Amino acid sequence: MCGIVGYIGKPKPIAEGLEALKRLEYRGYDSAGMAAYDPKEREVMCIKAVGKIEKLEKKLKGINIKASPFLFYTRWATHGGVTEQNCHPHSDCKGNIWVAHNGIIENYQQLKEKLVGEGHKFLSETDTEVIPHLLEHAFKGDIAKAVQKVVPLLRGAFALVIIAKQDPTRLVAVRKSAPLLVGIGKREYIAASDPSAVVGMTKEVVYLDDGEMAVMSDKGYTVQDINGNHLKKKVDFIDWNIEDAQKGGYEHFMLKEIMEQPETIADTMRGRFGKEAGTAKLGGLEVVGDRLKNIERVHILAMGTAYLAGLVGEQLISEHARIPVDTDPASEFRYRKPIIEKNTAYLFISQSGETADTLAALREVKQQGGLTLGIINVVGSSVAREVEAGLYNHVGPEIGVASTKAFTSQLALLAFLAAFFANRKEKKLPEITEGLKKIPGILARMLKDTRQIQKLAQKYAKIDNMLYIGRKYQYPIALEGALKLKEISYVHAEGFSGGELKHGPIALIDERVPTVALCLSDSVYEKMMSNIQEIKARNGPIIAVATEGDKEIAKIADDVLYIPRVPEPLAPLLSVVPLQLFAYFMALLRGYDPDKPRNLAKSVTVE
Ligand code: GLU
Repeated sequence: MCGIVGYIGKPKPIAEGLEALKRLEYRGYDSAGMAAYDPKEREVMCIKAVGKIEKLEKKLKGINIKASPFLFYTRWATHGGVTEQNCHPHSDCKGNIWVAHNGIIENYQQLKEKLVGEGHKFLSETDTEVIPHLLEHAFKGDIAKAVQKVVPLLRGAFALVIIAKQDPTRLVAVRKSAPLLVGIGKREYIAASDPSAVVGMTKEVVYLDDGEMAVMSDKGYTVQDINGNHLKKKVDFIDWNIEDAQKGGYEHFMLKEIMEQPETIADTMRGRFGKEAGTAKLGGLEVVGDRLKNIERVHILAMGTAYLAGLVGEQLISEHARIPVDTDPASEFRYRKPIIEKNTAYLFISQSGETADTLAALREVKQQGGLTLGIINVVGSSVAREVEAGLYNHVGPEIGVASTKAFTSQLALLAFLAAFFANRKEKKLPEITEGLKKIPGILARMLKDTRQIQKLAQKYAKIDNMLYIGRKYQYPIALEGALKLKEISYVHAEGFSGGELKHGPIALIDERVPTVALCLSDSVYEKMMSNIQEIKARNGPIIAVATEGDKEIAKIADDVLYIPRVPEPLAPLLSVVPLQLFAYFMALLRGYDPDKPRNLAKSVTVE
């Protein structure tokens, strides 16, 4: 996710802006830029650089101006490649208004066409650049008033921080569905994406809510709604140090990433629902729209957690869009001398977009002329560049090595894909799309209290082996639960389908080998209950993940983690979360750092 720092107050050396920006570095970015108003020259200086902040720092060496207001920015590209031109801040035609933006403007295309028609000159490929041009129209000397007029025209998500050369005593910050806060100093203010940028200057902050705008000057600040009505806001005190602040106050990135899934799933879904219930709008696939019409099969290729998301996708697409789907680990597929079929869409899933095996499989398919699609988180990564069309996760950088928020985002995108393929056959999937809309709210409620999972981890912290079982949609979740546990807590864990139990694994069961059974009230509930009975008969402890309201399961299982009832194909989005948390707590209790598991790398760029 990008980082924004905006400052107003006594003119300061711009190096201080750079320092604040560095504290947002952990959020991940691909380029950095700044725009600063020099009160002596009455001019705005703007400098940008691709790559690390150090590159920008080099360019700023020897520039000793004191500036106010100023903007510093790290970009995490969503629209337009990673170039200097595309980095923010962006300005209007006159170089008067300067904007730093985090998020996505969904209706930028229409806005841009109109503005271009009116003669505005665009310098970047970003969605963001429409904003300074719209502000140019609305600006009559007061930048806050101009922002009030423009914000209602924007659809999507944004945190905006804005300065204007012709109104240089004001800094404006406005928020809708992207984080933004105001740090309050002594007659100086910082608008920033998160508290780590402000802790160097102040510990007092006001968190903006959606639809709120802060107008700051060196004399004070106000928070207003978008109609200009003044609001009373609570001032919060940050009691973290800088290191903690980077993790949003959580002890580890992994925990932060687990806890932010309600928001990241919402970010993934934004702009992707069609007008009618049951339909999906996947702009990223439009370029291959004609070829997709003839698709008779989907082949999913991925590694690790992304492969397990693929297995859920296989169920979803084949059951609901009625297209046959195969899923393979990319590493196996590539050495098989694969037969590439004309009417198959090959879908590559990778968080980093740099996974060596996935990339190699992609190149193999491309070489043989197959249609390639991607689900990727990192914009501009190799897989993203090389597939013909694709969907970005939009969940921001995932820093914890064990994938969590990228996984649930992949599941959400695969559900959209099922709707997309069903729509081609005039079939709508309202259960799925309307169900998806409710997931962030349900998950937020689930995550309010994690004490039961923590207690469960205490109970099992010393065990050596653990099994995970599930069927149908929950089978890949059993595999993912086991993978999470072994990755970070180093407990030997295996996942398999309930049906496989009698074909071998049951030999392992005794009172020292607990089994996590994903036994939701769904189409395979009774089959799972039989498996649980078989395990109980051999004295195996059972931890069940079950649907709220199921009293039967509590009679057999030793522990039950309940999740709310949602449509069966969407349940993996919820059921995986307690398993992520369980693995996290197990790692902590066993004395390991969940963010840095031994022997593992975040992005597996070698075979
Ligand atoms: N959508 C904007 C861009 O691609 C902002 C990206 C961000 O939040 O970093 O430039």
